[in-house]
Amino acid sequence: MRILITGGAGFIGSHLCDRYLAEGHEVIAMDNLSTGSTDNIVHLAGHPRFSFVKHNVTNYIYVAGPLDMVLHLASLPSPVDYLNYPIQTLKVGALGTHNSLGLALAKQAKFLLASTSEVYGDPLVHPQDESYWGNVNPVGPRGVYDESKRFAEALTMAYHRYHHVDTRIVRIFNTYGPRMRADDGRVVPNFICQALRGEPLTVYEDGSRTRSFGYVDDLVEGIVRLMATDVEGPVNLGNPVELTILEFAQLTLKVTGSASEIVFVHPTDERTRDDPKQRCPDISKAKAALGWEPRVPVEEGLRKTADYFRVKLGLV
Ligand code: UDP
Repeated sequence: MRILITGGAGFIGSHLCDRYLAEGHEVIAMDNLSTGSTDNIVHLAGHPRFSFVKHNVTNYIYVAGPLDMVLHLASLPSPVDYLNYPIQTLKVGALGTHNSLGLALAKQAKFLLASTSEVYGDPLVHPQDESYWGNVNPVGPRGVYDESKRFAEALTMAYHRYHHVDTRIVRIFNTYGPRMRADDGRVVPNFICQALRGEPLTVYEDGSRTRSFGYVDDLVEGIVRLMATDVEGPVNLGNPVELTILEFAQLTLKVTGSASEIVFVHPTDERTRDDPKQRCPDISKAKAALGWEPRVPVEEGLRKTADYFRVKLGLV
């Protein structure tokens, strides 16, 4: 197959590039490098079936030749990034998805939308299954990301129903692993880098909010299976092992062997406004439709991620 991956120089996009290349396909990674980095794909330079195009998918996308799949990963998924770049976040979710769908239609290619557990907002149903419509504040600071992804899902379904594009939607829950940006502001790189540097781990508010953390290899396996299967509507992919953020901080200290202290901080910017109180995927649909479930335990995934950051931070 010939596959276009938008956001291909990003954290998840670059792992998908690796996977599809390893399976013998041709991969074009497209990225404007706003939050992605060529560091994530430098090992692919010169690969005969890989190419990189620097482009912002908010603008019209031109790709010469046929395409079998368009995987639309381009986005600003870290709360800190989307609070800093709210309009770009809305544009890539709306205009970027429109351009990517238009390309898929023109090329008669299968399309994947990388959506998010944020479509559930601050959920009133727990754990969240795909039938839940969510609890999103459209005018709050997180609305720029959540609503752009909700719009992207609606647009994807409209292209499916009206233009008969062969579409898939994956709702990605908190995912971590090598190639996350050390400074992207999310809890996994924050805690691991703080622990490795011997700095205090910054638990926001009282640490009672929950998240469920999935390792990137498991997510990639789920996406590959999803693309190979006919599935109507969105599919959750995530690891249902739910931890409070305080428990996650303690686990990070254990895995890294760090003597850092844990501090409770109360950010005065909008970072924690509308922060979902709890989040855990119901993965029954993925289990039944894809025969998929996470394989990498959180401690093992964290160990691998810490190994990556040790090198990245120049600590080994
Ligand atoms: N968080 C924290 N300390 C940090 C960064 C994040 O306590 O240094 C909290 C944040 O308030 C949220 C959770 O960790 O409750 C997950 O945040 P993240 O930004 O990783 O992703 P989200 O799931 O909110 O999109």
